[in-house]
Formats: sequence, C-alpha cells, structure tokens
Amino acid sequence: MSRVYNFSAGPSCLPEEVLRECAAEMLDCNGTGQSVMEMSHRSAAYEPIIADAEAMVRKLMHVPDNYKVLFVQGGGSTQFAMVAQNLGIRHKKAAYIETGVWAKKAAAEAKKLGVAVDVIASSKDKQYSYIPRVETVTGDYDYVYICLNNTIMGTHYEYIPDTGTIPLVADISSCVLSEPLDVSKFGLLFAGAQKNLAPAGVTLVIVREDLIPDPEQCLPGTPTMLAYKTHADNGSMYNTPPCYTIYVLGKVLHWIERNGGAEGMLKRNKEKADYLYDFLDHSDFYHATAEKGSRSLMNVPFLTKYSTGATDDASLAKEKEINSAFVKNAEAAGLVNLKGHRLVGGMRASIYNAMPLDGVKALVTFMQQFAEEHK
Ligand SMILES: *Cc1c(COP(=O)(O)O)cnc(C)c1O
Repeated sequence: MSRVYNFSAGPSCLPEEVLRECAAEMLDCNGTGQSVMEMSHRSAAYEPIIADAEAMVRKLMHVPDNYKVLFVQGGGSTQFAMVAQNLGIRHKKAAYIETGVWAKKAAAEAKKLGVAVDVIASSKDKQYSYIPRVETVTGDYDYVYICLNNTIMGTHYEYIPDTGTIPLVADISSCVLSEPLDVSKFGLLFAGAQKNLAPAGVTLVIVREDLIPDPEQCLPGTPTMLAYKTHADNGSMYNTPPCYTIYVLGKVLHWIERNGGAEGMLKRNKEKADYLYDFLDHSDFYHATAEKGSRSLMNVPFLTKYSTGATDDASLAKEKEINSAFVKNAEAAGLVNLKGHRLVGGMRASIYNAMPLDGVKALVTFMQQFAEEHK
C-alpha cells in the first residue's frame, strides 16, 4: 500500500515523518511502556509532552509573554461562541468582516448570544472571491472579527486591518503557521488543529491576558468550560485534554521547526501555491476562483471551462460529469479529496504545510492530462 497525495481541506495530510515517529512510539513512548493514548494527563510522563507543545507554539509563533496559549476542545466552531461570551461583554457589540461561510457562522453565533453584530465589510457581492479592504476600524466595539484564511472560498488577507485599541480576533484555523504572523497585532487567535497542526480534537487559542475576563463577567449563562479563564488558570488541564492530539501537535511543531519555522513554511507554501496558480492562470481549460491579491496559499478552488454559469439542464449535466470524472480519475492516480465545496463547485486542492511540492507537481501533471482528454 503506497501513500496517496491527500488534498483534503481537513482533516488533512500530516508530515509522513511525524506519522512514522508516532508509529514507532505507539506501544512505548519514551521508555514508559505505555502509549501516549493510555497515559494519565496528570502523570509525570505526560506533563512534559503538553509543556513542550505549548513551548513550541510560543517559540515558532513568537508569542509575547503577555499572551496565554491554550489547548481547548470543541473545534473552531466552539470558538465562534466562546469569543462572543468572553469578549463581547462591555458594549455587547462587535464588528465582523464577512468573507464567507466561517466568518458568517461566527457572526451568527455572536448574535445568538445577544452580541450586536455590525458587518463592517463584505465580499458577498462577488461570491466571496476576494478580501475587502478595511484600513481602519473605529466605534464602540468589544472586538473586530476576521477569518484570516477562508478555507472554502480560497481567500486570504494580504494585510491586517488596523483596529487601533479595539482587540482584533482572527480565526486562523486553515493558515496557522503557514507563514509568519505578528501575534501582537491581535487580541485573540484561534485555530482548530486538523488543518495544519494535528489530527482533529484540539483547538489552539492564543489570547492576550488582559482580555480574559473572570468567569462571572462572561455573558450570562456561560458554562465553566467556555470561559477562557478556566483553561488559562489550569494550564489547559481543567479537565482531560485531548492528550494524544496534543502529542501529535508537538511533533508537527518540531517538524515545522526542522523545516525552517514559519518562514520556512511560507517559502515552501509559496513555491507550491505559485506552481499551481501559475498553471491555472495560463490554462484555457481551468481557472482559479479567488481573485489575485486575495489568494490563499493553503486552499485553491478551481473550475473547468465547463463551469460556464449556464443553468440549463444540458450545461449542468456536462459540468457535473466533468467534475465527477476529474475527482474519480484523480483518485485512481493517487490524488485524493479534490472534490470542491458545494458552495464554490468544481475542485479544491488544499495544500497545507505537510503537502510536499511533489504532490502539487503530480496534481498539475494530472490536470494537464485530464484537460487534454476532455478539451
Ligand atoms: C474548518 C474550519 C472551521 C471549523 O472548524 P471545526 O474544528 O470543524 O469546528 C472554522 N474556521 C475555519 C477557517 C475552518 O477552516
């Protein structure tokens, strides 16, 4: 059984080196005679594992000392509520930049909790194919919320909005450590791990200490588990953390360090993304859906010339036939999970940190062949 190139948007491919290390330590980690899966989270064997994972986040992301690094559960989606419950407490009002599904879901959750949401910019007018430009934000907002990399639309901010003294919150689930990021520009950052850091099950939260309220100050009814303070005061061990996932996360971070850290990842990711976008931009069969100047290095949605926008039955049937053939034939060639999200259609190649350049080259070779066969 040979390994495939996995272009899934998440959970996604992990570095093979990391998987091999995990396999080698499966039955006996560090001479303990146990798998990490079996360890008590309060044991002397596990303690250095979570401590190292946190230290590596701090090191690779240059996290300032006045920020907490937390490992919580519930995925990126739980953060949509947690951000509102913990930060939307003074004016009960927040500004959201609407760049697609994930930003909209976050705004909806805040509204549900009674936080007034101002959508201060949106790219809805062009199916979220670009990132709106917001130079400065003023107003009595508790926070400004952005989704830095839009996994479904394949867009990414090429600038950080200046929000002055208003804390900036960013969902970095699908771009964490894909590039250097100045943490000090943000009040809070979060990332579900299953895109760029680890298997599913843990969410990384980096939050400025002064923004963490006492649990009683959170929005009324906030459960203990959804107060950042609960996790901050207990070293992410208030309850049982996702021990094994955090262990794999630590290994992925060491892999990132060995490969040049965030700077090394950016170089590697740019090389891959440039290779693919360059091919798409010169093709008369395929085209990328995200606008230049807003393109993600991580998620690349693309359509074929059979996605014409025409809605008659024959055109739709042809489009569907081509897309299905693409995905099926790609899979046969060892290139898996290329089906596009239904909101964008076509195909999507997610090329996270762990995807090697050879995987992208194999994809482009396949795409050339497919175009030749279906022109
Ligand atoms: C995947 C994703 C989410 C949702 O993450 P879950 O862990 O499945 O809740 C949120 N935001 C972004 C940008 C994502 O890519």
